[in-house]
Amino acid sequence: KPVIVIVVGMAGSGKTTFLHRLVSHTMSSKIRGYVMNLDPAVMTLPYGANIDIRDTVRYKEVMKEYNLGPNGGILTSLNLFATKFDEVIGLVERRADELDYVLVDTPGQIEIFTWSASGAIITEAFASTFPTVIAYVVDTPRSSSPATFMSNMLYACSILYKTRLPLVLVFNKTDVAQHDFALEWMKDFEVFHAALDSDHSYTSTLTRSLSLALEEFYENLKTVGVSAVTGAGMDAFFKTVEASAEEYMETYKTDLDKRR
Ligand code: GDP
Ligand code: MG
Repeated sequence: KPVIVIVVGMAGSGKTTFLHRLVSHTMSSKIRGYVMNLDPAVMTLPYGANIDIRDTVRYKEVMKEYNLGPNGGILTSLNLFATKFDEVIGLVERRADELDYVLVDTPGQIEIFTWSASGAIITEAFASTFPTVIAYVVDTPRSSSPATFMSNMLYACSILYKTRLPLVLVFNKTDVAQHDFALEWMKDFEVFHAALDSDHSYTSTLTRSLSLALEEFYENLKTVGVSAVTGAGMDAFFKTVEASAEEYMETYKTDLDKRR
C-alpha cells in the first residue's frame, strides 16, 4: 500500500515548490510516486499532477456562479471535489500495488484545508484507507522570531490533535536559514525563553506560557530540515515519512478503528 503524504503549511511556506522537489526526487530515486493537486486556484504547477482538482472544478466559474470571493471560491471548489473523493480513493486503490507514495498538495491558504469540512473529509478518506502522514511545512527564515515561531507551532499542534495523524515538521528554506535554532527552542524551553527576553511585545508573556504547554507536543513530533530549492534533506524526509507510516500502523490505525 502507498503512504499518503498530505503537505500543508502557511501560504508561501513552499508547499508547491516542495512537492515539485519531492516529485523530482522520487523520479531520480526510482520511488513510485503519484501526485495530487488540491489547490484549485494555482495558476501554473511546476510538477505534473496525476490528479488535479482543476480538471474537475473551475474555480473562477465557481466564484461567478455562486457569487463568491477568492477564498469562498477555493473553499466551494474543494467542497465540490470532496463530494467525489470516493472516486479518487478508488483510483488510488486500483493502483495501490504500483505505488510507494501519494503526494498531496493543498491550497495556499492553510485554513481552507485544515479547518474546512471538505479538508476533514478528504483527510479521513485517505487515513481510513491508507497509512497517512501530514507534512507541515514551515518557512524557517520567517519563523526566526519567537512569536511567529510559536504561532506556527500552535497551528501545527492544532492540526495534530484535529487529524490525530503522525505529523512531520518540515523546516523548509534551510538554504536561507538553518533550522537549528528551532530544534534548540523545541528541546529546551529555557533557550526559547532567553530568546523571548529580547522580545518586548505584549504577546511575550503568553508565548512564554504556551511554550511550556507545547512541551509534550514537541516530544511527539518528528522534524526534518529541507530546502525545496536546493533539494537538501530529501532522503531524511522520506526516512522520516517511513517512520511516521509505521507509527500510523502501530497507533493511529488502531485508534481510528476504535473511534469507528
Ligand atoms: P505555497 O504557497 O506554500 O505553495 O508556496 P510556494 O511553493 O508557492 O513558494 C512560495 C515562495 O517561496 C516562492 O517564491 C518559492 O520560490 C519560495 N520557496 C519555496 N521553497 C523554498 C526554499 O527551499 N528556499 C527558498 N529560498 N525559497 C523557497
Ligand atoms: Mg501552493
